[in-house]
Amino acid sequence: MRDLLDYLPAVPDFPKPGIMFRDICPLLANADAFARALDSMEELSTGWQVDCIAGIESRGLIFAAALATRLRKGLVPVRKPGKLPPQTLRENYALEYGQDGLEIQRQSIGPGSAVLLVDDVIATGGTLLAAARLISLLGGRVTGVTALLSIEALGGHARLRAAGLDVKSVLAC
Ligand code: AMP
Repeated sequence: MRDLLDYLPAVPDFPKPGIMFRDICPLLANADAFARALDSMEELSTGWQVDCIAGIESRGLIFAAALATRLRKGLVPVRKPGKLPPQTLRENYALEYGQDGLEIQRQSIGPGSAVLLVDDVIATGGTLLAAARLISLLGGRVTGVTALLSIEALGGHARLRAAGLDVKSVLAC
């Protein structure tokens, strides 16, 4: 059986010079690899209280949506600015390759809701931290964070842990 990391080839200098991008498309295109990745994500999520799943645009939503159907939970999209109809809440953050913002619908998470936060790749952790802040601002509790891959050298996993988040990734490199 091939290692799941083999389905995430590193692409140098994409989308900008100096960035080693991990391409998730080969994993998504392989039914067995995609299912194994989700099996593992589902297993990592056991033990976390979950009322709903929040997924981060764009690739995080692929895993969040699939996991939501497996766990039979609702999906809350956390999207790039201007994509969600009002009323929304916005958070700006720094990326490994630039600046960005995220938005969430104000009514999407009720006070005290237990939220499982999902993304594809953890690099610097800035994206997940911004999403976690949005959920907290709405009164939700991030009970767990899961991702397909953590790029350890970029320190995101450690940053998220330092912020008090319980983080588990399927793979690390
Ligand atoms: P960060 O906020 O630095 O943890 O970046 C995480 C977000 O950016 C995720 O939503 C990823 O899809 C994307 N990303 C950042 N760096 C990479 C990378 N080297 N390879 C693939 N995706 C990345």
